[in-house]
Amino acid sequence: MTNNNRFYKSLIIVCLLIVFNACTTSNQSPRNEVAKKEEVFVIKNVNIIPMTVDNKIIEDATVIIEKNKIVSINAVIPNNATIIDGRDKWLIPGLIDMHVHNLSSGSFSKGYPTRGATLTFDTQNMMTPYVANGVTTVFELSGRIGHFSQRDEIEKGSVIGPRMAIAAVIDGEGNEIVATTPEEGRQSVRNAKGLGYRFIKVYTWLTPETFNAIVDEAQKQEMKVVGHVPTAFEGKPAEEFFIPHFGLIAHAEELSKQTEDYSYKKAQEFARLAKENGTWLIPNLTNMEWIIKQAKSLESVKTLPSLKYVHPLMQNKWITSNSYNKNATPELITYFQKQADFHKLIVKAFKEAGVSMVAGTDAGISGVVWGFSLHDEIKLLVDAGLSNEEALASATRLASEWLKIDDKIGTVEVDKLADLVLLDENPLEDIRNTSKISGVFVNGKWLEKATIEKMLTDLTQWNDTNKEKFLWKNRKNL
Ligand SMILES: [Zn+2]
Repeated sequence: MTNNNRFYKSLIIVCLLIVFNACTTSNQSPRNEVAKKEEVFVIKNVNIIPMTVDNKIIEDATVIIEKNKIVSINAVIPNNATIIDGRDKWLIPGLIDMHVHNLSSGSFSKGYPTRGATLTFDTQNMMTPYVANGVTTVFELSGRIGHFSQRDEIEKGSVIGPRMAIAAVIDGEGNEIVATTPEEGRQSVRNAKGLGYRFIKVYTWLTPETFNAIVDEAQKQEMKVVGHVPTAFEGKPAEEFFIPHFGLIAHAEELSKQTEDYSYKKAQEFARLAKENGTWLIPNLTNMEWIIKQAKSLESVKTLPSLKYVHPLMQNKWITSNSYNKNATPELITYFQKQADFHKLIVKAFKEAGVSMVAGTDAGISGVVWGFSLHDEIKLLVDAGLSNEEALASATRLASEWLKIDDKIGTVEVDKLADLVLLDENPLEDIRNTSKISGVFVNGKWLEKATIEKMLTDLTQWNDTNKEKFLWKNRKNL
């Protein structure tokens, strides 16, 4: 396991490098062409999949959206409303990715006190792949100050993007916030709260004592805790890390790294402990799929259709400096494959035990493209044993419940915010239909298919034009 740990450690450092601080500049984009919030929209004759607990489909319905809210279902159509034809289409809540890493601006070159970021990322370009894919809320799990700036731009309406929940990462080494003693852990939680974070992410290199103190302090500060299971728990009984208020595990991999027993019985033991402790799980199957694909061959990345929507610096890095591929050995690939198989058993066992699971992708890690990857994750959850409806709930209602915003989003109901995806075909019949998108409402802004296509074309063009400027090997000059 030590070799693997070293491997993970090097990956973590690489991952951190890609997630910079601060924010953004802006270029042209269709943001001004999008209808204003005040407009009234009516989706006529649509089939609503509300994703409420009973999820009773409402056929041939009329949905009225005013400002950024669903104001009524099947009421009289107001005058001067913009009509959207929903005939033979399906309306679902906006999708939520519970595990993302957004690029935000920073610098690879040496700084000095008055020097800001030298490498900036256009926030609209960062957010377009999300909204184009119906992803209207994301949970940023490597929170930096720059992510707050992104959230502000979206909130102000200068960028069309998803709602952002942001977690501060606390680690034992190698991360921005480091805590090596329980007291430092507690202080780090209080500091994060002071900076405006609402969530804490616990990380791999914490000692068990510091991990316990962080989770306890977060509870006192009313901040929910998501994260990794520290490596220091390896070989110890799982009861030691399933502690009260450790609310969400960031990937199933956190569990497979704790054991060499990849039996269904072991998966059931984790499931029982998670259930008793109230800990939810982000299975994060798509990330492990991509780790395996890249370890085997870089062709998988080079031929990825959504690669063109990735910032050119990252496109170049994923191809020329891909640590999953560089560090791969046949033994490691076999180990990853065993983990991936075990993760499917974990999903099955957690479902059987009634543990809630939410969809998250690790978007931003090589191969895992923002927005597009959530559809892959939902499909993989179905392959692992969730029903189509359960998989969809993991990316809508359940995710909003964990984030405690289920009074605002997560279902299609009157008085909810208008985060909606209009689909050409029924995702309850075939889960792959979540990507057959006819249009998206993001906080009441309507993006019809043509608008989405234009946004994606603009993004591709910008990425293509700037390819030579952003070579990974030259990053220190950026
Ligand atoms: Zn992650």
